Amino acid sequence: MLKGKTALVTGSTSGIGLGIAKALAQQGANVVLNGFGDVDAPRAEVLAAGHGTDAQVAYHSADMSRSADIEDMFQYSVAQFGAVDILVNNAGIQHVASIEDFPVERWDAILAINLTSAFHTTRLALPAMKAANWGRIINVASVHGLVGSAQKSAYVAAKHGVVGFTKVTALETATTGITCNAICPGWVLTPLVQKQVDAKAQALGISNEEATKLLLGEKEPSMQFTTPEELGALAVFFCSSAANNVRGVAWNMDGGWTAQ
Ligand code: NAD
Repeated sequence: MLKGKTALVTGSTSGIGLGIAKALAQQGANVVLNGFGDVDAPRAEVLAAGHGTDAQVAYHSADMSRSADIEDMFQYSVAQFGAVDILVNNAGIQHVASIEDFPVERWDAILAINLTSAFHTTRLALPAMKAANWGRIINVASVHGLVGSAQKSAYVAAKHGVVGFTKVTALETATTGITCNAICPGWVLTPLVQKQVDAKAQALGISNEEATKLLLGEKEPSMQFTTPEELGALAVFFCSSAANNVRGVAWNMDGGWTAQ
C-alpha cells in the first residue's frame, strides 16, 4: 500500500516509534529511523518487517531538541529517498514532579522535544508535500493531550500543544491531499513507562507486577496496555486512502481512560 513512499519517524529506535516504523515498512514504505541508543537492532527489526517489499531503511541521529539537527535530518532524508511523504512526530520524553519542584531544564527539554520539534519537522515537510499534493503527518500525542494528570505539567502542556498544532496543520492543508492527525495512546509498556512502574515499585516497596497493576488501575479501565503494534496499525490506517478525509482528529487508543 505504501510502496514508493518514504516515512520519517522521529524517536523510532524504541517503543511506539519503532512499532509504527515496522508497520509502515510492512506496507512497503522506506523508513528513516531516528533516536538514541542502539540502532542496529531496531534497523534489523524494521528491515525484517519490510521483507518481501522494496522497503529500505536509513537512520539519522538528530537530537530533536535542536532545530539545526532537524534540518540536517530532512536534507539527509531527501538525499536518501527523494522526499518525505509520511512524517511521524513521535520522539518524546517524560519527567514526573510537582510544579514547584519541576527542574526548569527538564521543562525546557520536554517542550522542545515533545512539541517544538513537531513544528520544525512540519514546516520542513509541508512545501514538498504541497508540491506533490499528497502527505501524511501523524503526531503521537497522548491521552495527556486530552486530559491532565498531577505531576506531569510539562508533558501535559506539551501534549495539549501537540493536539492544538495538529488541528492547525489539518486546517492549513484541508483543501490538499495532505492530512494531519494525532494519536493519543493511554499506557503502552515501553521504556518511558517502565521507568514509572519501577519508580512506583520502589516508592511503595512492592513488586513490579503489583506496581504495574496499580498503574493501570489508576487510569486505564481495560487494565491492559495498548501495544506498539496496535498503534502501528492505526498509523497505517491514517496513511490509507480510506483516511483521505480524516483531518485534525485526536484519536485515543487508551483502554477507556478518557471515557471516564
Ligand atoms: P521510548 O522511551 O520507548 O521511545 C522514545 C524514543 O524517542 C526513543 O527512540 C528515544 O531514543 C527517542 N528520543 C528521546 N529523546 C530524543 C531526542 N532528544 N531526539 C531524538 N530522539 C529522542 O518512549 P515511547 O513510550 O515509545 O514514547 C514515544 C512517544 O509516545 C512519546 O512522544 C510519548 O510521549 C508518547 N506516548 C507514550 C505513551 C506510553 O505509555 N508509553 C503513552 C502516550 C504517548
